[in-house]
Amino acid sequence: MKKYGMLICLFALLIFVFVCNHVYAIDSKYETVKIGLYYSSSAKSQVNLSSDSGFEAGYMDGSNFVVQSSLPGTSFSVSASSGGVMIEGVYYAYENGNFALKPLSGTLYIDGEAYRGGVEFITDSKGLLTIINFVNINDYVAAVVGKEMSPIWHIEALKAQAVCARSYCITTWNKHSSLGFNLCNTQDCQVYHGISGETESTVLASLETKDQLLMYGQSVAEALYSSSSGGSTGYSKYVWGNDVPYLQAVADPYDLSSDNPKAAWSVTLTKEDIKKKLTNASINIGDIIDFKVTGADEYGRTYEITIYGTNGNYVLKNDRTRSFFGLYSQKYTISGSAVPNETLYALTSTDAVAVTSFNVLSSTANIVPESFYISGAGGLKCYSDVDDTPSDSYVIHGSGWGHGLGMSQYGAKAMAEQGFDYIQILQHYYVGTYVQ
Ligand SMILES: [Zn+2]
Repeated sequence: MKKYGMLICLFALLIFVFVCNHVYAIDSKYETVKIGLYYSSSAKSQVNLSSDSGFEAGYMDGSNFVVQSSLPGTSFSVSASSGGVMIEGVYYAYENGNFALKPLSGTLYIDGEAYRGGVEFITDSKGLLTIINFVNINDYVAAVVGKEMSPIWHIEALKAQAVCARSYCITTWNKHSSLGFNLCNTQDCQVYHGISGETESTVLASLETKDQLLMYGQSVAEALYSSSSGGSTGYSKYVWGNDVPYLQAVADPYDLSSDNPKAAWSVTLTKEDIKKKLTNASINIGDIIDFKVTGADEYGRTYEITIYGTNGNYVLKNDRTRSFFGLYSQKYTISGSAVPNETLYALTSTDAVAVTSFNVLSSTANIVPESFYISGAGGLKCYSDVDDTPSDSYVIHGSGWGHGLGMSQYGAKAMAEQGFDYIQILQHYYVGTYVQ
């Protein structure tokens, strides 16, 4: 019996080791994230700090806070002073002039704004203070979710957002390393304003996905997200030119829900507007003859626009087809002006017989139809006729808001409301990924 007992113990030990190896925890080097609050042009000469409990003072060794002393008082201002800081008449500088403070317990207030974790000061080349909040990554995620998504949205959408925010944090880790922190607090990285971003639901979303990351193969996936895909996500190669295996176009019918404010939008541009944009960018192709989409993916997401001028053509590619004209997304069509003098398309039949309706698709200012469709028993057929003078205006009809890569936030909301969980949501938007 003793022998069996030993074997059972050994077996139990093996199971224990196996389970331990498969309980995922985030790599310890990512436990604390440094967020730049004031830096470069927003760096400060002075800032007010307070806490409910008094402070420990020290410096940051990487992401570890090394305590050197404690500071009396719970409220004071910190000023830049020859490579260090001055607090109530006392000069402090540790390790290359770096200086950090952490409340003994509870909340830290930086110029009245509440944060978790502590604060690090680095004197920049102008003698001003770069002010950095160092904070646990899961606390950071709870605060980001409340700023990047509405905290009253469905918990599964918030959890998907939490995994995106945490994963994006790690893949963006070195973005601002030259300034001494990991990520900034603006939309350039992810919007973060400390505890004001937390609600019960965003804290829960972070907690229920604690340490979880979106993975592709053995690497953390760059979990890009945007407000609305407009009905299909984009190919990364057609946005920023790099082909990322999990950032591929997928049909996204969930996105076009009735509460999505950018499910449909339109913008009118005159030829003069287009010429002005080009002139402002120091591009001269003369007067504008035409302007059209010359490249779009199978879902109608634009990746190439050609502007035809009296003095040459100008081609916009990838995300410039959005940014050049300040459009909401790359998912749009252009109508108006020089419509080709031919049949545009026949949808279901070669002939439309017994006309039952007649609709104008676009017209010039003098209300002469340039294109129209007729529908009848034989199907639907579209014609255009531009013997008339073309209009000087183009109407851009689009849908979606943002770069359109990866998760659509409005799509995630609709999926969650339809019963999908956060892992299903993430796997819909990021092809071939898993959550760990
Ligand atoms: Zn940034």
